[in-house]
Amino acid sequence: MPNTQVIHRHLHHLPPTAVAGQGMWITDSEGRRYLDASGGAAVSCLGHGHPDVIAAMHAQIDKLAYAHTGFFTTDVAEELAARLVATAPAGTSHVYFVSGGSEAVEAALKMARQYFLEKGEPQRTHFIARRQSYHGNTLGALAVGGNAWRREPFAPILIDATHVSPCYPYREQREGETPQQYGQRLANELEAAIERVGRDKVIAFVAETVGGATAGVITPVPGYFKAVREVCDRHGVLLILDEVMCGMGRTGTLHACEQEGIAPDLLVVAKGLGGGYQPIGAVLAQQRIVDAMTRGSGFFQHGHTYLGHPVACAAALAVQKVIERDGLLARVRELGAKFEAMLHEAFDSRVHVGDIRGRGLFWAVELVEDRASKRPFDPARKLHAKVKSRAMAEGLMVYPMGGTVDGRYGDHVLLAPPFVAGETELRLAVERLQGAIDAAVA
Ligand code: PMP
Repeated sequence: MPNTQVIHRHLHHLPPTAVAGQGMWITDSEGRRYLDASGGAAVSCLGHGHPDVIAAMHAQIDKLAYAHTGFFTTDVAEELAARLVATAPAGTSHVYFVSGGSEAVEAALKMARQYFLEKGEPQRTHFIARRQSYHGNTLGALAVGGNAWRREPFAPILIDATHVSPCYPYREQREGETPQQYGQRLANELEAAIERVGRDKVIAFVAETVGGATAGVITPVPGYFKAVREVCDRHGVLLILDEVMCGMGRTGTLHACEQEGIAPDLLVVAKGLGGGYQPIGAVLAQQRIVDAMTRGSGFFQHGHTYLGHPVACAAALAVQKVIERDGLLARVRELGAKFEAMLHEAFDSRVHVGDIRGRGLFWAVELVEDRASKRPFDPARKLHAKVKSRAMAEGLMVYPMGGTVDGRYGDHVLLAPPFVAGETELRLAVERLQGAIDAAVA
């Protein structure tokens, strides 16, 4: 048994050994090829082995592999930060680099807390987040994450958090309720939660702009985030958007929140930022958050050894340049529309597919006992895991997730192919997924 398996136990079977990756394909040590329709976990936006990214990383290693940010900044970190600021929501002035999604969420939570400490509001200690959300596995990120079953083994978690409803129209929008009314109802629920906790006690509302892995790509109804922003502003509560999975082009705009017409106070990105070539994440902060620190203690009281790692920044910079040069955001939108049509063609007639939802190249298929009643499968059947292993057997990588442990929501399969995928490859992925789902539900 591979020595990594005791701790990487989420693989329910012995995994194949990956030895090579090119474009949308990964090859294992037996020579079998897998079509990577999940981009790993919505990471590999340029696919594998992109020559421009590899060349940029080589060039950076040849020059300088590492320099601690306690002593230096680097050209490559500054160039990447300037680029991120220039393309970020209005008011963004600073970037804080870390090594991944959980670290970035953790940094954002601390930055938000420190903002209020600097402003002389130390009593603000509470976060509000959403059920059915995922923000990472470090303790702070776990505390705001919306799955009680992930938090409970590690209770008491040091951060106070309250969870409100996710924006999940397929399951929770009421009969006769318009999308606008639904969005407003959720914003009212947030406001009631703020009032319950105490309007001077809440630091921030934390949400994924498009709910990712846990929720299965739940896209917000129009107006929801505008209503949320208004509630936050009315109570002086910050808005932290976690776009670790849905951001950096995945939904067809660089940041998913652009499509909601709002700017968060802190925007968290990772995965697609470095496209899997290096571990990197970032917090994009509004000027006023940074100003409070500058006027107060003078610095953000946080730090990691690998902040702004030069090779990670070089990889991310190259990824972002390729996206711009090759017009990949437009391609995500065009290819996304075609992918959506392929998914409907393949699954609209399937009784076990309740919902097909997504945006850009970020899609989920929700599995149900039957489409009419929307009744989820018994969670004990672990259908998502079956679909994953069937898909792997057919040479396809998809990202599966169970619904809720209480069986309230359905299992789903998440698809996040690279932006450079070909139409033929996407068609093959859909065909193989159809086979895997049919076999798993049988
Ligand atoms: N936030 C979201 C929305 C995520 O999807 C993830 C990872 N799936 C994380 C945070 C944590 O990122 P990482 O695994 O890089 O720590």
